[in-house]
Amino acid sequence: MLDPVLTLASELVKIPSYLGTPRQESAVAARIAEFLRQRGVEARSIDVREGRPNLLASVDSGRPGPHLVLCGHTDTVPLNRDAPGVGLSGALALGRAGIKCLVLERRAEFSRYPKANGVHARTMELFREWGVAEPVKALTAGMPAGVTIAWRTRLNGIEFGSISIEESEEARRFFGMLSPELLSTAGQHEFEPLLAEAADALDNVTIKLSSEVVSLLIGDDSVTAEYTDATGGRHTVSAQYVIGADGIRSVVRRTLGIGEHGQTKLAGLHGARELPLMLALFIETID
Ligand SMILES: Cc1cc2nc3c(=O)[nH]c(=O)nc-3n(C[C@H](O)[C@H](O)[C@H](O)COP(=O)(O)OP(=O)(O)OC[C@H]3O[C@@H](n4cnc5c(N)ncnc54)[C@H](O)[C@@H]3O)c2cc1C
Repeated sequence: MLDPVLTLASELVKIPSYLGTPRQESAVAARIAEFLRQRGVEARSIDVREGRPNLLASVDSGRPGPHLVLCGHTDTVPLNRDAPGVGLSGALALGRAGIKCLVLERRAEFSRYPKANGVHARTMELFREWGVAEPVKALTAGMPAGVTIAWRTRLNGIEFGSISIEESEEARRFFGMLSPELLSTAGQHEFEPLLAEAADALDNVTIKLSSEVVSLLIGDDSVTAEYTDATGGRHTVSAQYVIGADGIRSVVRRTLGIGEHGQTKLAGLHGARELPLMLALFIETID
């Protein structure tokens, strides 16, 4: 039997509540209120704005003394937002915390194609704590400070708009007051091997490449993953928890019944007319 709080947490992450969801936190807040009421704790909901409820609950110990206030967000932000390389980052964080973990990656090597190339300052702060910020920064040494995002007909074509982040000295001074780290433009395909190297150096972390998870069995107090190796051989491994950092066509999502929301097709997202342009941009980037 799972702990009731863990069961609640696993229910809550399945309820869409991210930015852009109609009445964003409402369904999550309603489920938490129900959970509290079932345990004899009255909870009331107050809309701070239409469709944006705050849930207030208090437990009276019946004794005089100071109050302890616990306060937290109820919406769920997708884990991967602003933190590229979630699986490897997770392994590094767990390994450093003394927790044994195994990373199963179906590829024989980390992807050579670009994905994320905007690593936010907060993620860089974590990289700093893990001792990988300097090697990550070294990847972009000599490149212009700051980031300019431009919209162009082609990489060498007409520019019809751009925005700049942290470009001016003044902007960098301002951001420098907020964090010891600035946004980095290192590519995920370049810094993933650095994360893997740092994680692999920890006694608690094992990284297995060419290992594809084919199924997950969720037990009462453990999870068993079945995976194949490079020769097609089948293996199983059991653990207390599994982190689903296996992309959108995820075995973990499928097993847990976590759906997908939003646009499913690139063509639908950006309009079929722009698709050839986008593909051309990607092909040029990869070249
Ligand atoms: C073009 C592009 C640009 C992006 N730009 C940014 C950006 O600038 N900043 C930002 O923060 N984010 C950006 N992102 C998002 C970012 O790349 C992801 O959020 C991040 O990579 C998620 O990390 P992850 O470890 O969860 O998954 P991924 O990096 O997607 O890795 C999933 C891994 O799981 C493996 N896998 C899948 N299924 C299995 C299986 N069954 N068994 C074993 N292994 C499996 C895959 O081979 C893959 O290596 C971008 C994404 C793309 C595609």
